[in-house]
Amino acid sequence: MELLTIQGKDYSGKRVFVRADFNVPLDKDQHITDDTRIRASLETINFLLNQKATVILASHLGRPKGKPEPSMSLSPVARHLSALIGKQVLFANDCIGQEAKKIVNSAVAGDIVLLENLRFHPGEEENDEAFSKELAELADCYVNDAFGSSHRAHASIVGITNFLQDKAAGFLIEKEVKALSRLLENPERPFLLIVGGAKVSDKIGMLRNLLDKVDTVITGGVMAYTFIRANNWETGNSKVEYDSIPLAKEIYREIRKRHLEFHTPLDHVVADKIAEDAHYFTTERGTVPIGWIGVDIGPQAVWEYTDCIKRAKTIFWNGPMGVFEIEPFAKGTIEIAKAVAESDAFTVIGGGDSIAAVNKAGFADKISHMCTGGGASLEFLEGKGLPGIDILKK
Ligand code: AMP
Repeated sequence: MELLTIQGKDYSGKRVFVRADFNVPLDKDQHITDDTRIRASLETINFLLNQKATVILASHLGRPKGKPEPSMSLSPVARHLSALIGKQVLFANDCIGQEAKKIVNSAVAGDIVLLENLRFHPGEEENDEAFSKELAELADCYVNDAFGSSHRAHASIVGITNFLQDKAAGFLIEKEVKALSRLLENPERPFLLIVGGAKVSDKIGMLRNLLDKVDTVITGGVMAYTFIRANNWETGNSKVEYDSIPLAKEIYREIRKRHLEFHTPLDHVVADKIAEDAHYFTTERGTVPIGWIGVDIGPQAVWEYTDCIKRAKTIFWNGPMGVFEIEPFAKGTIEIAKAVAESDAFTVIGGGDSIAAVNKAGFADKISHMCTGGGASLEFLEGKGLPGIDILKK
């Protein structure tokens, strides 16, 4: 996929509207608890600053539902970004109107302005024309670097490009699209898909679409229990997504037709409740005893999955193998993270929890690509066009 990119373009003296993804987690005192997304935007920002552009940054944070919500202000991001870049970031208390215009007009070449949360206005999520036009009036050119929001046809992602003809993808989007395209277009084989986590319906479409590309699938988490249930095997009190069972059955039929290797865990860690003080033990087989909850893959499953990982030349992983937030149930996920990190394959990890697991295990630098946008990467791999990316195609 060929995108319009900022590479090789001249932005000197231009006011550039950069849609970034600063949707970072904040604690109750509004301290940023994970700045990965802010750091991921630095390459594009620094490139534009070096060219002496005026950089106008915009993002959403949380779900303020179209009205100002002080706990979702981007002002902590402005302070944090100032510290990271070593330069003052001017902050506009609104993303449109007099407030935004005043600050943008006072900015000179090489300055950075951060606009307040786009979703404080309903026009952002409604892709409203008048709102898009107001955003566009602040700048001469448009750059989208918010991969994690590009599956949404919102004003700052799509509508604004009707008013700013000079548009391009930033470095982060370019990197994300390149890595994900490599999975879809001629991946080196064997291609292994590792899919776990709890949001089965968000991922099962991606799994269905990738059946044409992958050689092996290994499952964990609620995804695994949904497939075990679809086979009419016992899952005890494990969490199962019953609405996805018909699609799981269809996937089983497709897998048989294609002779793909498909694994559910050979054994499980099962608990009487999902809590730190639960009673738990490891089963000897791939089903879950009545009355117990499957909370992690067991050691035989880790052994089998590690073997699949060692054989793979391409790996995409989304979703933890168990309830890894609880220490005794984290082992399966950590072992899989370790095996993926040690693999020589082209490795891509999507989804906040799998990335958190890899970070927790200290293997982040051994992964070929970590996706910053979980939902967007799943839709991309599901074969759906992303409105924010389609608009930047050459
Ligand atoms: P997802 O966002 O779909 O990747 O799901 C991540 C969440 O799945 C994490 O919070 C895990 O605790 C949860 N999870 C993983 N395995 C299980 C399980 N067997 N039962 C319940 N929740 C699980």
